[in-house]
Amino acid sequence: MSRLRFDAILESQKRTPLPVEDAGRRSEIFASNVFNDERMLQYLTKDALDSVRNAILSGSKINRKIADQVAEAMKGWAITMGATHYTHWFQPLTGATAEKHDAFFDLLDGGRALEKFGGAQLVQQEPDASSFPSGGIRNTFEARGYTAWDPTSPAFVYGTTLCIPTVFVSYTGEALDNKTPLLRALNAIDEAATGVAKYFDKNVVKVSATLGWEQEYFLIDRALANSRTDISLTGRTLIGNAAAKGQQLDDHYFGVIPNRAIAFMKELERECLVLGIPVKTRHNEVAPNQFELAPVFEEANLAVDHNLLLMDVMDKVAAKHNFKVLFHEKPFEGINGSGKHNNWSLTTDTGVNLLSPGSTPMKNLQFLTFFVNTIKAVDNYEELLRSSIASASNDHRLGTNEAPPAIISIFIGSQLGNVLDELEGVTKGKLSPEEKTELKLNVVGKIPEILLDNTDRNRTSPFAFTGNKFEMRGVGSKTNCAKPMTILNTIVAKQLRDFKKEVDALIDKKSLKKDEAVFNVLREYIKTSKRIRFDGDGYSVDWEKEAKRRKLSNNKNTPDALKVLTSAESLNLFQATGVLSETEIKARQEVELEAYIMHVQIEGRVLIDMVYNQVIPAAVEYQSRLIKNVIGLKEIYGAAHKGLSDTTASIIENIGENLAELKKKTDAMKAAIARADKQADTHKKASTYCDNVLPYFLEIRGHCDNLEQLVDDQLWPLTKYRELLFIK
Ligand code: ADP
Ligand code: MG
Repeated sequence: MSRLRFDAILESQKRTPLPVEDAGRRSEIFASNVFNDERMLQYLTKDALDSVRNAILSGSKINRKIADQVAEAMKGWAITMGATHYTHWFQPLTGATAEKHDAFFDLLDGGRALEKFGGAQLVQQEPDASSFPSGGIRNTFEARGYTAWDPTSPAFVYGTTLCIPTVFVSYTGEALDNKTPLLRALNAIDEAATGVAKYFDKNVVKVSATLGWEQEYFLIDRALANSRTDISLTGRTLIGNAAAKGQQLDDHYFGVIPNRAIAFMKELERECLVLGIPVKTRHNEVAPNQFELAPVFEEANLAVDHNLLLMDVMDKVAAKHNFKVLFHEKPFEGINGSGKHNNWSLTTDTGVNLLSPGSTPMKNLQFLTFFVNTIKAVDNYEELLRSSIASASNDHRLGTNEAPPAIISIFIGSQLGNVLDELEGVTKGKLSPEEKTELKLNVVGKIPEILLDNTDRNRTSPFAFTGNKFEMRGVGSKTNCAKPMTILNTIVAKQLRDFKKEVDALIDKKSLKKDEAVFNVLREYIKTSKRIRFDGDGYSVDWEKEAKRRKLSNNKNTPDALKVLTSAESLNLFQATGVLSETEIKARQEVELEAYIMHVQIEGRVLIDMVYNQVIPAAVEYQSRLIKNVIGLKEIYGAAHKGLSDTTASIIENIGENLAELKKKTDAMKAAIARADKQADTHKKASTYCDNVLPYFLEIRGHCDNLEQLVDDQLWPLTKYRELLFIK
């Protein structure tokens, strides 16, 4: 009998919270390990500083001489911070981050050693990258890809390594990572939104997208997590009977955070703050052992980097506290999974949030312009937005009555809805002075008041306006936010560009005043984007029917959701905005499909292992014991044993029936996997995995969970839900 489960339970029960110091005054330690503006001011010459600041503001190139200076300064600073190595830190299409460490070290002639790090090493590196997914962009003979410095995200010292955020591209210039398209999308939205913002304030020269993510996660005792193959290898439980107590009592949500978890969080927050991640809130989430962490929002590229860094820091700090963090979207059946809300807005270099109404009619019209254009963009490209959050693991969560449905819609609340309804009635062409005054004072002018009271939150909506930002709620907890942020900013950029063209045309050709032209175009957008607005219950069956009537997409699984990436419309969009070339987007689709296939394939194999090596042996062993009991009763009582052994016999049979079905289904799944693997076309293969392999998972699980309920607890080898979720 396997002792692993019981040893793990014993080990977990002996734990006590690690003593940790609170971060203390957060402002004092904040970003102390970051080569930010403050450090640059201290370490760089004026020329170098100006050059880097310009690169950050306008994307201008940094020349080699300056790069050498920056590298020298960075190295000097990093060494005082205890760094011995440096790495280009990048985001390959695996979804995680990658790094290859090089020592600050070189040999001079004569064997003298030197701490070396020059501009060349700062600006560009060539990791041996042939094993990262590229979707066929790099044939192995030209496997070279290179990483290049992204000066908009500051370098930082993590442990003893200077980490330099970089993009990762092929020698032929194609993006091989998640950061490059994001930067392009942010560039596109900057250009488009600045053009529109200038209608309202000529002084605006730059618009940045902002992102505030909210990271949900589970904390599980390390020994317990490691005692299960499925958690170790797939990040979730493939089998496991629900504990008698789940989240029914809602006693975890916003409850007192357990001591061991608090110790972990304190240390985590300290680490984050030092690295410049502005963490702010922490609380218990709905499910037992589930928590959430959220920072103050930041410029989107930086926020994405910070979220990726956070996930890495969490893993490391958790290990120290004998926890394992589960980032999987659905680690436990029957219990809420985890997401990562992406709060998004646009802000000008003059410090104005473009999705926040202001104190003058013009500022309110500006708000309305960005608000309506976002709605229109999402309406045009709802299916593409859905594709950006598709993954094998997120499929378990979207549309499960705890997360938004796979249908994209927008919640704006009834009061803002009324404002849009009124604007639909705006006169075509020139407006009378009375109408203008009426609009500015009584329609648009009322927005600030309305928003003060915009409390009717609808938690079922995948894309909700929450007063001064939109909140994208379908993003998975594991997802690299770069993906949804790339798509969202691209579609809004395209929309704002089209908007500007239309408004300019009305001003030039129809000699409308600027505000008249804006009202005219917005009126049409409001009319044509109505179907995307939905304030009702997103979890209801009626909404699925209604959405279908409205011709909104409802792609429930990843292979279906990814199709749209290469539609003619999407290719046009990516080309027009310069975000992704046809080669790049096709490669990305291929990579995502491959990832899906491998994910399901690995889970299938793990499940087969667990069934054959753990579940069946335990069930058979217990059944054999029961059989001995029946034989014993028969020996002693002869013909009279029947009444006495009936109960035992019925359990023997029940186990036998479940075993028979379990074996049948497991073998059938194995055969289905083999058949799916024969498919040559990646898309077909992914769909085959989805349609023909995945359905077995729940059936197999059903029998395993039945057996867990029948078999003697002492014989059951798999750590149970009640142990995983309630031992603190
Ligand atoms: P919630 O009820 O969803 O927790 P909060 O007001 O606390 O609402 O905000 C949630 C998240 O929204 C935070 O992470 C915050 O940083 C982010 N946020 C706030 N304003 C903006 C903005 N202008 N742009 C992007 N994110 C924002
Ligand atoms: Mg939120």
